[in-house]
Amino acid sequence: MSEQKIGTKCVQAGYTPGNGEPRQIPIYQSTTFKYDTSEDMGKLFDLEASGYFYSRLQNPTNDYVAAKIAALEGGTAGMLTSSGQAANFFSLFNVCENGGHIVSSSTIYGGTFNLMAVTMAKMGIETTFISPDCTEEELNAAFRPNTKAVFGETIANPALTVLDIEKFAKAAHAHGVPLIIDNTFPTPVNCRPIEWGADIVTHSTTKYMDGHGSGVGGAIVDSGKFNWLQYADKFPGLCTPDDSYHGIVYAEKFGLGGAFITKCTAQLMRDLGSIQSPQNAYLLNLGLESLHVRMAKHVENGQAVAEFLSSREEVNAVSFPGLPGDKYYSLAQKYLPKGGCGVVSFELKGGRTAAEAFMKKLKLAAIETHVADARTCCLNPATSTHRQMTDEQLAAAGIPAGLIRISCGLEDKEDLIADLKQAFEG
Ligand SMILES: *Cc1c(COP(=O)(O)O)cnc(C)c1O
Repeated sequence: MSEQKIGTKCVQAGYTPGNGEPRQIPIYQSTTFKYDTSEDMGKLFDLEASGYFYSRLQNPTNDYVAAKIAALEGGTAGMLTSSGQAANFFSLFNVCENGGHIVSSSTIYGGTFNLMAVTMAKMGIETTFISPDCTEEELNAAFRPNTKAVFGETIANPALTVLDIEKFAKAAHAHGVPLIIDNTFPTPVNCRPIEWGADIVTHSTTKYMDGHGSGVGGAIVDSGKFNWLQYADKFPGLCTPDDSYHGIVYAEKFGLGGAFITKCTAQLMRDLGSIQSPQNAYLLNLGLESLHVRMAKHVENGQAVAEFLSSREEVNAVSFPGLPGDKYYSLAQKYLPKGGCGVVSFELKGGRTAAEAFMKKLKLAAIETHVADARTCCLNPATSTHRQMTDEQLAAAGIPAGLIRISCGLEDKEDLIADLKQAFEG
């Protein structure tokens, strides 16, 4: 059979029941798994056989759902994590350690910025933040001999910049390091970064993938394309014996397609224990089954709201990569031909005070620290998600203090526009 289309994968990939088995993915609500002999279990601990022994590391429900996400992204292996934060931390920490360095786009999610700029810095890992709009020369100049990875978001939350993935992939590969792309906002329905050169893709599944605001979660997908052994001196964790697993060399034993996720599971999940609960994985899969249907509607509503906001004189600027006047319109045409997502940012002329007053008047759009679910919601990042950042950092991340981020849900667009209209006129 030819390669399935994305919608078919949303519905069916990852889990194929055998004769008489449950049609829906079973929830393996069990911390542990039973074996007949210690030898059987020993093989699992030595990574000589694959199987389950303890749900801090792996659980079958999670693995079905991770396999679906890997299929959607076009990768070779995937895993679920307890949150998007854990997914981004694991994907970075799997390739760098104390003394390492990361090159990252500066317009990224506030939590990820904090993770790198503060928490990973304390672990001895430095990050150079660079504008996604930088030239190739500027990008190449950001690398150091100890650089281990390049990071960016396909569509940045909340700045809504669109990353030139090919430009970032080219620079990463010229320096022998992987490109890690957080693809949370477009989801693989609207962009598959691996097709543009990304090596690792991460997700906050909390957003559109779950899509109903029901469970926090994350996912990591490996493209299976990055040749760790070719740059063995840069990636000792993957290319030299792991003493905590009887001297296994992940890149040799598990090959291009399996090394990254196996190490991430066997070491990081074992030691840091940030696994998604099987219950949440089950809920996530329900969201994935309709992802392709929902994304089209989110995009349609985002487009309508962005066009409406552009027509209002109270509004200083609207960011939505699907608007022909948007700074990222041409990159969006290239990387997001079906549209990006339903998130729109706009700046009211009256700044922070006007933003707060306006949001209070909205009836359908609730004020939430959340985006990307079925119900429309909005947020003023400067006073919430990004409040740990200085004004200079906010400016570098492209987030003016009076910015409102509105995440268009699945309601009828006429009602969303009517709600905004009454708030302007009230
Ligand atoms: C929300 C978000 C995260 C963090 O995910 P959590 O599930 O909240 O931990 C990371 N990246 C992006 C782009 C996000 O929107």
